[in-house]
Amino acid sequence: MRALIVSDIHSNLHAFDAVLADAEEAGGYDVVWFLGDLVGYGADPGACIERLRGLPHIAVAGNHDHAVTGKLNPDLFNGAARAAALWTAQQLDGDEMAYLVALPEVRLEGMFTHVHGSLRDPVMEYLISEPAALATFALMETPFCLVGHSHYPLVWCEEDGRSTVELLDPTAPLMLEPGRRMIVNPGSVGQPRDGDWRASYLLYESERGGDGGVLLHRRVEYDLSGAQHGILAAGLPESLALRLGSGH
Ligand code: ZN
Repeated sequence: MRALIVSDIHSNLHAFDAVLADAEEAGGYDVVWFLGDLVGYGADPGACIERLRGLPHIAVAGNHDHAVTGKLNPDLFNGAARAAALWTAQQLDGDEMAYLVALPEVRLEGMFTHVHGSLRDPVMEYLISEPAALATFALMETPFCLVGHSHYPLVWCEEDGRSTVELLDPTAPLMLEPGRRMIVNPGSVGQPRDGDWRASYLLYESERGGDGGVLLHRRVEYDLSGAQHGILAAGLPESLALRLGSGH
């Protein structure tokens, strides 16, 4: 079984389509695992929802999805994110909004738990500190947990009651062994923040690598100026276009 693992698409259809094409070239996939924040920031929210819905997939909700549906107060966001959430809510039809409303916060899929933020706070907590990682390891009922939200491609490994973290390396496949628990973030498709503007994602292959399969990290260039022009043409904050180019 092969899964395409994506997170934080953030209404960036140019980046999402580049990832789908790259994954096809890399051998294709049976299912898409989406880890939240389909919308917010970018200019193509409806098209991103339709693209994902047209693929075999399972998905969880992120904080931006909740802000657009009203499950989370957009006033909790900074100015640009709040403006994008309110704008996005006006762009979606009832069917697209209903899709976002129905997204669960946590899913179990075989050896994997899927959640946007963390297991102790599914849509809000950033898994970027050892205490946060240890708290999620304590709640995991599966060997592996897939998260998004921080927009950093990272892997946390549990070792002797401690937790180590590394950036994912596109040149080094990550072997999964059920006895070695891990929390993995594929990075962001639509708004990377690790200093590399290219879309970030993972391919999972269950029949290769360790007993738990293997994760392959990939980065792909996309039509950056197309995405930036869309943001400006929609009247969204200029800062949202500029940050795509810097990868921060
Ligand atoms: Zn996000």
